[in-house]
Amino acid sequence: MSKRILITGGAGFIGSHLSEKLLAEGNEVICVDNFFTGSKSNIEHLFGHPRFEVLRHDVTFPLYVEVDQIYNLACPASPVHYQHDPVQTTKTSVVGAINMLGLAKRLRIPILQASTSEVYGDPAVHPQTEEYWGNVNPIGPRSCYDEGKRAAETLFFDYRRQHDLSIKVIRIFNTYGPRMHPNDGRVVSNFIVQALRGEPITIYGDGSQTRSFCYVDDLVDGMVRLMATPHDVTGPINVGNPGEFTMLELAQAVLGITGSSSTIEHRPLPQDDPKQRQPDISRARSELGWEPTVALAAGLQSTVDYFRRVLAV
Ligand code: NAD
Ligand code: UDP
Repeated sequence: MSKRILITGGAGFIGSHLSEKLLAEGNEVICVDNFFTGSKSNIEHLFGHPRFEVLRHDVTFPLYVEVDQIYNLACPASPVHYQHDPVQTTKTSVVGAINMLGLAKRLRIPILQASTSEVYGDPAVHPQTEEYWGNVNPIGPRSCYDEGKRAAETLFFDYRRQHDLSIKVIRIFNTYGPRMHPNDGRVVSNFIVQALRGEPITIYGDGSQTRSFCYVDDLVDGMVRLMATPHDVTGPINVGNPGEFTMLELAQAVLGITGSSSTIEHRPLPQDDPKQRQPDISRARSELGWEPTVALAAGLQSTVDYFRRVLAV
């Protein structure tokens, strides 16, 4: 049945893909965004859609709308963006969660939180299962994001315990695909943009640190599946692609796909940069019947095609 669905951060990279998917399934989508890192160009192809609506709004202020479900994605995701105004980042996660949980409580509707693998910090357990409590520096440059997201998870589970709210917490691992911001400093967009422009590929540290990259279509499929689960399924649930690569391997893959002759340059490793990351997705497999379907080479190819179009190179 068609639902009216609120997506905060709906003009961002992931939010725009989620908006498309939920519209394609016949729902009404209300996209709420303050356009800090999101952009109208991410959603302009949806502007004429009769079931799509956009509200410019900052989630740190209360919001009054009538909806059937909430996906709470509002929060800058790349280190460059979330460290630009760290106080606002924590406020967005914490006050934004309180406002959206309050809305969900008033309406008695399910709410999904876009949490993150960053709640595991620089993990001492590998691969990361949902039971692992993490290894997070509370006072470093990444803390505004990591601790903000951890506090948001606490709020979600307290609203569940205190008010029996239907909560869904998804821990998203590094996701990539078309509509990533070309200048947001994340590794996949950086490497592709650098390769296409023939500029040096910047590897931070020696490039032996690992990440596991999930294609955005797979991720939004996992989000929608989690939202569709019964009341007793709350998460947290890891959603990511267990294929784990070093940053050197990623650079080689991008060079291969673009056919670029860019050189590789090493830069200092940022403080608190996690050394390794790979999701254990047993829970997503059993509770959502979900697993990723897009291999890195195929996902990188469509991301490269997208950046070729927007950069016109
Ligand atoms: P993004 O920066 O492209 O999107 C975030 C969106 O939130 C933007 O449109 C931005 O304008 C909006 N926003 C920020 N602050 C806001 C505020 N105060 N009020 C209203 N809107 C606000 O990032 P993304 O990659 O699409 O990430 C979406 C969500 O997924 C975030 O919550 C992020 O933490 C989470 N996540 C992303 C990844 C990833 O790899 N991309 C990994 C883990 C978690
Ligand atoms: N990184 C890199 N070169 C870049 C950008 C990032 O080597 O131009 C590294 C970064 O140090 C980290 C990894 O790539 O080890 C992933 O960085 P990203 O910011 O994409 O995600 P996160 O660290 O938040 O997982």
